[in-house]
Order: sequence, then structure tokens, then C-alpha cells
Amino acid sequence: MIIDLRSDTVTKPTPEMRQAMFAAEVGDDVYQEDPTVNRLEERAAQIFGKEAALYVPTGTMGNTIAIKVHTHHGEEVVCDARSHILNYELAMLSWFAGCVPRAIPTEDGVLSWDRIQPEVRPLGPHWAPTGLIEIENSHNMAGGTVTPIEIVNDICDKAHERGIPVHMDGARVFNASACLGRPVAEITAKVDTVMFCLSKGLGAPVGSMLVGTREAIDKGRLYRKRLGGGMRQAGVLAAAGLIALEQMPHRLSDDHVNAKLLAEGLAKIPGISIDPAKVQTNIVIYDVSGTGLTAPEFVKQLRGRGINCGPVNDAKIRFVTHFDVSTDQCKAALGACEEVAAAVGKR
Ligand SMILES: *Cc1c(COP(=O)(O)O)cnc(C)c1O
Repeated sequence: MIIDLRSDTVTKPTPEMRQAMFAAEVGDDVYQEDPTVNRLEERAAQIFGKEAALYVPTGTMGNTIAIKVHTHHGEEVVCDARSHILNYELAMLSWFAGCVPRAIPTEDGVLSWDRIQPEVRPLGPHWAPTGLIEIENSHNMAGGTVTPIEIVNDICDKAHERGIPVHMDGARVFNASACLGRPVAEITAKVDTVMFCLSKGLGAPVGSMLVGTREAIDKGRLYRKRLGGGMRQAGVLAAAGLIALEQMPHRLSDDHVNAKLLAEGLAKIPGISIDPAKVQTNIVIYDVSGTGLTAPEFVKQLRGRGINCGPVNDAKIRFVTHFDVSTDQCKAALGACEEVAAAVGKR
């Protein structure tokens, strides 16, 4: 059997989700008449302590809508240099919202006002105004790192003083919540909008949510339609989303324990480098260049041993833990890494 550590998006719906999908009460959601979608949107708003929420097919669409709601054409969006909105969303912030990213390199994907402030453009004849600040929490390509609540709040306070809104790409904000031991509502209390994915560690087959003020969500609903995201009897999907939202967050810490186990095991393998102390959630990014193999070569060797994962670049590989990989399977993945690294040593 393949052990799939490529992403937490590979999780399959649970039997309970499938049952709920089968039994879901549905209506036409473009007319806002799907009772299950309506319930999911109400619960998401409640859990985040915000006015309203919008069910969207993907996280990319949620971020795209949020950026469009907050900005005007010709503005800048401040984000971390490794952010998902900049690197993995096909330049949607330029394509749809007409904005350019103002990327800030960071060590661990954690922005701070000190880093942002010099990049906020003053009004003048040469500079595009800063239309939005974006925070990714937890941060995917920085290795699942978490921005602490005080830093989120500080960025929001300083941004709001200047009339700049803040959006959180919280694709994995429930992982951040499990790591910090604080409710998502506290982490996102001051951000204007937050997007989170039901389809990753929470295990739903499809769907993400955009949460914010009534005004932002009402506007966002129109952009969702424009992007082709006005789904009809979407309650069959939202039914699984409700279970993901209500029942799955509490088990994310299991994934974090497995990620830590992987990180600590990898750190002991000659030629592999990773600092296990930096692994806070369910993403483990490690460097294999010391083994003499490139990351794509190492990945291919793992694949031959039944471990599925992906390279981040020529040197680094990413493992993502989720509820469809057990602790024993993580141990098996470690064994395969040891074998691959040792085999190169003997060549
Ligand atoms: C997965 C992810 C998204 C959205 O991805 P979709 O595949 O479009 O649902 C957005 N931001 C981050 C940080 C992600 O990891």
C-alpha cells in the first residue's frame, strides 16, 4: 500500500461524511436556498466570531475573492515571499484583482510589522498604494510555521491605523489553533477576512470558507458567481464540510505528533538536515542535499519503496501528515528514508 505524504488534501471523506452527504437536505445555493450550505456558512461565521461566511469550491477561489473585495486595480498586496497567493495561485491577484504582490522574504514565513512597515508605500507620484496585507497561518512552504496571535494583532492594529485591511490565508488555521491551543476566533479576531480549507486536514472532499463582515461576504458572493463558483445543490458537499468543521479540528494534534516524530527521525539520518524544533504543525520540510541525491532523485527512490511525497526544490522534500497516515506508516516512511540515504553512501 502506498503511504501518501504529498499533502493533507489527499484525505478521503469518512464513512460518517459519506452518510451525511447521502442524506443532505439540498436546494439551489445561487438562490441561497440550500439549507445545508446555509447551515455551514452560519456555523463557520459563529466559530470564527464574525458576521458571515461564504462556501467556495477551493481555497484559491476564497483568497482570490478576498483580495478582490479589499483592493482596487493598481494596488499592492503585501505578503511573504513564499506565500501561497504569490507562488501557487497562477498570479490570480494580478489576473483578477489587477494588483501586484509586494513580497517580503522571511526566515520562517512569519511576517511582523517591522518587516511590513518599510514596504507600505507613502502616497506620492511614483508608488502604487498598499491595498492589502496578507498573512499565511500556518505557513505552508515555510514548513507549517505558526504566526503567534500577538503578531497577528499587532500587524492588524498598525495596518488598520493606516486604513489598510488584512486578510489571513488560513488554509490550515485550525492547525495553527491546535498548535497554539487557542480557538481560531482568537487567532483571527482582528483580521478583516480569513479563508480556511475544509478539504485538507479537516478531511472534507471539497470546499473552503471565506469568513468576514456581512458587507465583505455579500460582495464576495457576487465575485464567486463571476468566477464560476455559484454551485447549485452544493449541500451534498457542504454536509461533509459541516462534519469536517465540527468534528475534525480536535484530532489535528495527532497529525502534529506524527510530524514531530518524522522530523526527529529525519534529523538523525546522515545527509539529511532539518531542525525538529521548527516543526510546529503537520508539515515537515527537510534538506537531502547532504546525501548526494537531489530532492527529485530522493523522491523517486522513496516512490519505489511505496512512499509518495514531493520535492519543494532541488534540495528539499515536503512531508505532510494527515488522518489517512498512521504513526506506524510514518515510522515506515522514516525507515525508507534511512534506506535511501544509506544506499547512496554505499555506491
Ligand atoms: C492549499 C492552500 C490554499 C488553497 O488551495 P486549493 O487547492 O485552491 O484549495 C491556499 N493557501 C494555502 C496556504 C494552502 O496551503
